[in-house]
Amino acid sequence: MTSVQSHKKAKALKPSSRRPAKELCSECGLCDTYYIHYVKEACAFLNQQIPQLEQQTHGRSRDLSTPDDWYFGVHQDMMAARKQQPIAGAQWTGIVSTIAIEMLKRGWVEGVVCVQNTDADRFQPQPVIARTAEEILAARVNKPTLSPNLSVLEQIEQSGLKRLLVIGVGCQIQALRAVEQQLGLEKLYVLGTPCVDNVTRAGLQKFLETTSRSPETVVHYEFMQDFRVHFKHEDGSIETVPFFGLKTNQLKDVFAPSCMSCFDYVNSLADLVVGYMGAPFGWQWIVVRNDRGQAMLDLVMDQLDTQPVMSQGNRQQAVQQSIPAYDKGVTLPMWAAKLMGIVIEKIGPKGLEYARFSIDSHFTRNYLYVKRHHPEKLDAHVPEYAKRIVGQYQLPD
Ligand SMILES: Cc1cc2nc3c(=O)[nH]c(=O)nc-3n(C[C@H](O)[C@H](O)[C@H](O)COP(=O)(O)OP(=O)(O)OC[C@H]3O[C@@H](n4cnc5c(N)ncnc54)[C@H](O)[C@@H]3O)c2cc1C
Repeated sequence: MTSVQSHKKAKALKPSSRRPAKELCSECGLCDTYYIHYVKEACAFLNQQIPQLEQQTHGRSRDLSTPDDWYFGVHQDMMAARKQQPIAGAQWTGIVSTIAIEMLKRGWVEGVVCVQNTDADRFQPQPVIARTAEEILAARVNKPTLSPNLSVLEQIEQSGLKRLLVIGVGCQIQALRAVEQQLGLEKLYVLGTPCVDNVTRAGLQKFLETTSRSPETVVHYEFMQDFRVHFKHEDGSIETVPFFGLKTNQLKDVFAPSCMSCFDYVNSLADLVVGYMGAPFGWQWIVVRNDRGQAMLDLVMDQLDTQPVMSQGNRQQAVQQSIPAYDKGVTLPMWAAKLMGIVIEKIGPKGLEYARFSIDSHFTRNYLYVKRHHPEKLDAHVPEYAKRIVGQYQLPD
């Protein structure tokens, strides 16, 4: 945790273009500000401190005797939800944007850190502090690229904002929590999304060109619970590509090294997390981590349909089989991939078991990546809960 140090000294520093995490940098934006002074403690890739920050944020860290805590982090409630009236153009039904708008409208916060896109490129992230509902709405939908959300942190102090909502992914939120005490805020709320397999803008282009029939018209995409990537195109059409048909051999180096080294898929340090992977197809997945998160969710409950989370199937064999296949870059012919997709959709893991499938697959892959590329970091960088998850499987050397 960042101790209360000479914040004045930090402010005197000019942000530099240095990236102390080097190739593991996730471009969270902290180093674009004078808070770079705290980077050695704050950066998720230089100093893994999830348990300490969980304690600071939620009043406790994960209970390691409870497998649900290994997987989903500290939580007091989970559910599946969807907006009765979805927001057009949102990534899913727009629960994230709706909560942010309500918080702003009711005066809970004076600004919302979120990420719009540039005029020239729908996928190029442009972090902003939104002060109106329109500015929040303009940030809806994922920018599926590394985004320097924390680059706006200096503006918070300069503008005198005292009550703030930050929307972000795990690596951004870990750094934010580490410098939270230095921001001069009276109240900070954090609305997180899960995040995995993010890419640079160039990496995204390669992914789209390798995987979609029409890369230039893709408006958004998601790796869905039906084991397919769903691409939505400008004309509203949906293209699906089975996971097992992805050209793994060509895509192996497309994901950012930071994401290949990440063990915070579920955004452990947010007050409230809104994703999809623990919910049935078509629904969003809500994880309430603490009382602040519950209060944020309560603001919009009358606009949601909800149902309890469910869990079905057994992921473990599928995960174990996929480890060597991924490692060798095995790519199935499309007909076989489609067939496998149909079978696994029928009998495969669903609900929370699908979320465990995805977490297991990524943590085992990432563990191998860190072990091979940064062996000196392995022990301290991999949190204990992730070691327990990975320990369920046999890994190649
Ligand atoms: C890069 C990325 C990967 C994700 N991977 C998963 C996953 O594997 N499993 C899962 O369950 N959920 C994942 N999610 C979350 C999921 O895709 C939806 O974002 C979430 O369910 C909210 O949907 P919504 O319709 O409520 O959001 P919307 O109302 O459309 O709002 C989306 C919000 O996301 C923010 N945002 C957009 N791009 C970024 C970015 N690059 N970095 C930080 N914030 C951003 C915007 O500020 C906006 O406020 C991911 C999200 C992102 C950004």
